[in-house]
Amino acid sequence: MRGQALVIRTRDPAAIASLAVRTNGTNALHAVWLDSDQPLDDIPIESRWAGVTLVIRCAGIASVKGLSPRMPLLRRLPLRIFIPAHLPSAFVDLHILSSLGISCGLIVDASFDRWQELNDLMHYAVYCKAPHAPIEPFNYVVTHYHPEKMTDFDAAYFNAPGQYLHVNNREEIALTQEDLQSGRILAKGLGALETITASPAFRKSQYAWRKRFLEMSSCASCPGWRVCLGKYADAVPPTTGCSEFFSDLLDAADFYRRKRDDGRMDECR
Ligand code: SF4
Repeated sequence: MRGQALVIRTRDPAAIASLAVRTNGTNALHAVWLDSDQPLDDIPIESRWAGVTLVIRCAGIASVKGLSPRMPLLRRLPLRIFIPAHLPSAFVDLHILSSLGISCGLIVDASFDRWQELNDLMHYAVYCKAPHAPIEPFNYVVTHYHPEKMTDFDAAYFNAPGQYLHVNNREEIALTQEDLQSGRILAKGLGALETITASPAFRKSQYAWRKRFLEMSSCASCPGWRVCLGKYADAVPPTTGCSEFFSDLLDAADFYRRKRDDGRMDECR
């Protein structure tokens, strides 16, 4: 496999530096994604990772005191800290990381239901004038939003179907990380990567969003559709509050776009 941009997922911090060396010359290393069940304080961070864009998915932060000695290094590295939304402290941790100047993001799955907290964090991320680092997925939405197009913020997590394919160590290929983990496999073998985008299964998946309109579900009349794309429509139990949140996020994206077009970005951050 040559000429592809790769995002490599690992659970081994010791592998990160060598991953950058091994992919050189044949494929561009877009990023390394480190999955950890530890809080950020307990994950070894090395200055030799400076040449790698690194995403760390971790169990939040245990304490600001524990992070303090490593703050200069954390700010220097091309680093994003992602925290799963099911952790009770996720929103507070992201607020702290952003205010400390560390890029970060919330990992929201299809069963998410903490819309008010998400809305509060979004308002901080987009409207707060005090200096702070970007928070995903809000940063992706406001910087990529186009009023006449759909904006899939899963791209901020390297998980947007059509932009990324997911391959495991058995060379099984899937559209998303969730599909890969649940066994919804599109094809097998690295050779299939060259032709998979022409396959009927891949093409069908690109238009899966249309079923929301054919079914006349609540998504079909939702003002937030262009940035949500129905991601929470199948939540069990059904979620409420998603439409209001995404409507507010669209307002935030419009606010950001107007400031950018007027050259007044200092009013956003
Ligand atoms: S915000 Fe809720 S109702 Fe609107 S498109 Fe998304 S899942 Fe559907």
